[in-house]
Amino acid sequence: METRFVTQHLSRRAEDYLEAILNVILEKGYARTTDVAHKLAVSPSSVVEMFRKLDALHLICYRRYEGAVFLPEGREIAEHIKYRHDTLKKFILIIGVSEKIADADACFMEHELHPDTVRRIHHFIAYTEENPSVCEQIQRFSDAIVR
Ligand code: MN
Repeated sequence: METRFVTQHLSRRAEDYLEAILNVILEKGYARTTDVAHKLAVSPSSVVEMFRKLDALHLICYRRYEGAVFLPEGREIAEHIKYRHDTLKKFILIIGVSEKIADADACFMEHELHPDTVRRIHHFIAYTEENPSVCEQIQRFSDAIVR
């Protein structure tokens, strides 16, 4: 899953939008402007502006009054960012951070961390899941930290 894409051409904001579009599509089947605006806590006009940019980059197809559908490269990038988000969030949760902070920090780190780091974290999570004793030890570590 951790493949290299041309994400370096995109701003963090554009990556956030692609990820939000994917999450809305997974929830509702279709990415309406208002749903994406709600997800990113921005105004519908900001969404329209970014939808136009992403459309011009051939990442999505934006239809006025309807919303956005992915074009293949847009979907690939979105899935790549979501994979990074989900992996990093899982890791942050494992070390005992609250859901809300884990989500926010994952969204920050997903744009910046080296692919090797994300890959190692992905394998680390898999290792803990496959080894219940490791899981228990990490749980004890988490419980031992004063909040
Ligand atoms: Mn994110």
